[in-house]
Amino acid sequence: MPPVPSSVQALSGLLSRQQSAFVGEGAVTAERRRQRLQRVIDLLVRHHQGLTQAIDEDFGGRPAGFTLMNDVLGALASLKHARDHLQQWMADDPRAPFAPYDQLGAKAWVRYQPKGTVGIIGTWNAPLYTLFSPLASALAAGNRAILKPSEVLPRTAALVAELCAAHLDPLEVAVVTGGPDLADAFTAQPFDHLVFTGSTAVGRRVMANAAQNLVPVTLELGGKSPVIVSASADLAKAAHSIAVAKATNAGQICINPDLVYVPRAALERFIAALRSAYSALNPTVAGNPDVVAVVNARHLARVEALVQDAQQLGVRVETMPEVAPGAADERRRPLSVVVNPPEQAQILHEEIFGPALVVLAYDALDEVIAQINSRPRPLALYHFGDDPQEQQQVLDHTLSGGVTLNDVMMHAALHDAPFGGVGASGMGHYHGREGFLQFSHLRTVFQAPAHDPRREWGLLPPYGEHYLAAMLAQVTAD
Ligand code: NAD
Repeated sequence: MPPVPSSVQALSGLLSRQQSAFVGEGAVTAERRRQRLQRVIDLLVRHHQGLTQAIDEDFGGRPAGFTLMNDVLGALASLKHARDHLQQWMADDPRAPFAPYDQLGAKAWVRYQPKGTVGIIGTWNAPLYTLFSPLASALAAGNRAILKPSEVLPRTAALVAELCAAHLDPLEVAVVTGGPDLADAFTAQPFDHLVFTGSTAVGRRVMANAAQNLVPVTLELGGKSPVIVSASADLAKAAHSIAVAKATNAGQICINPDLVYVPRAALERFIAALRSAYSALNPTVAGNPDVVAVVNARHLARVEALVQDAQQLGVRVETMPEVAPGAADERRRPLSVVVNPPEQAQILHEEIFGPALVVLAYDALDEVIAQINSRPRPLALYHFGDDPQEQQQVLDHTLSGGVTLNDVMMHAALHDAPFGGVGASGMGHYHGREGFLQFSHLRTVFQAPAHDPRREWGLLPPYGEHYLAAMLAQVTAD
């Protein structure tokens, strides 16, 4: 098996070999695309156990069932959806030629052509999903790809690289491994498209690097996804859904609820309902295999610093479940709920991405909408409530990557609809037909009729006297 490329030189050579193979291949048939997708599907099906174990070891505790659901099944769903739909997506799309050429036999259509090699950078929180779900769209569109897993999970990154090298053609799908330096150099390569999943701060650097080569980017970033619990909401249901989300991957999910707006009169009832729901899911923390660990000491310190900053400002912090001091284990933590922090608290401005949550009491919905609109556009937005007019008001007056109504995070599981952010939470999409379009060049083709009528119509120089008059006669507003 060839060594896994981990130097910029090796990456650059690999990219140019993939690009030459792409040019040499010409049209990529539907059958060839399905075969490439199937090889990735087979790899995941055959090796899910080893991958799940590597992720568990890298995290220092992550249930196999969750990794299967989130990473293996999530990626498989994208790959299978793409495999089963790509033929209808890639069909040429006839368009209407303009008059009078349409009468003369002209034809026009849009071809969906692959771009070449797509570079895909993944995160640690969903280490397989953030690589293989965008890969599904890229391969469906007929591209080749080079993946760069997150260095935060070293065993997982090494195994992904090893398995891809063993089961896939490196001229079709290859993996390079390395940390931020290699990642930075990766985004400076002349890829034909780049997909970056990660933080907004790094996303800015990725886009700046890509701009040097005019490489188009899909940025799947993070943010502070808000939840609006309306006065008409079933409080217990809302608390349960939010508790389930915070107990999932210890809140280390890009679309996890971050700020929860609750009507002032319902604040204490909501906190009690959240405590009861969360504690039912995770009655204990230390040694509880259902509680996912915070991925490493750096991220644990980051999340704890956000909570401590609020505490130092005198803010109320509720711990769920209650744990005896010193009872936490190495990196498993209870949920810290920070109640009504003041504007200067860091936790109101930085993405939490861990086992903490902010709850804010509100008096009027307009005030909540104004607060959401005063912050960077979030990746997701959630609304709990039964009033359709209020739902509509929230949808019409806010913008976010996606929305789930009366639950959280569910929209991201749709494989037949685009997933992506807006503004500071990202740009572009994968999943579904929109993912296929993202990695295709939409190439318009015009086929001229046999006869060019412009000479006899007086449309060519030397211009006759009625040329200008004929043009002016068509400048109408109807
Ligand atoms: P990160 O930005 O620290 O790292 C992500 C990837 O970027 C890693 O592979 C890393 O090697 C690479 N990287 C590091 N420095 C780089 C540089 N200078 N240039 C290019 N690449 C570089 O993010 P993370 O900690 O792995 O993940 C957490 C963040 O990702 C959160 O903000 C979360 O919301 C976001 N996220 C978004 C999605 C989504 O689909 N929108 C999914 C998962 C995570």
